[in-house]
Amino acid sequence: MAEGDEQRTAKVEPLRKALPCPECRRPSTRENYPFCSDRCRNLDLSRWLKGSYAIPVADDEAKADDDYRD
Ligand SMILES: [Zn+2]
Repeated sequence: MAEGDEQRTAKVEPLRKALPCPECRRPSTRENYPFCSDRCRNLDLSRWLKGSYAIPVADDEAKADDDYRD
């Protein structure tokens, strides 16, 4: 047990190569991988929800539904 504790406070060897945060380019953390923080993770998520990433299927369905409504 003591050994593990020591390793945690000492220099931690990352399991995989740390990638820069896609939002701000700072080193990512294991808790928020691949982001550096909760904030950047939420930023990315909100971009998804706003539709910055293409989601063609959902858009198509909404339009078709509208046409039928009149
Ligand atoms: Zn970031």
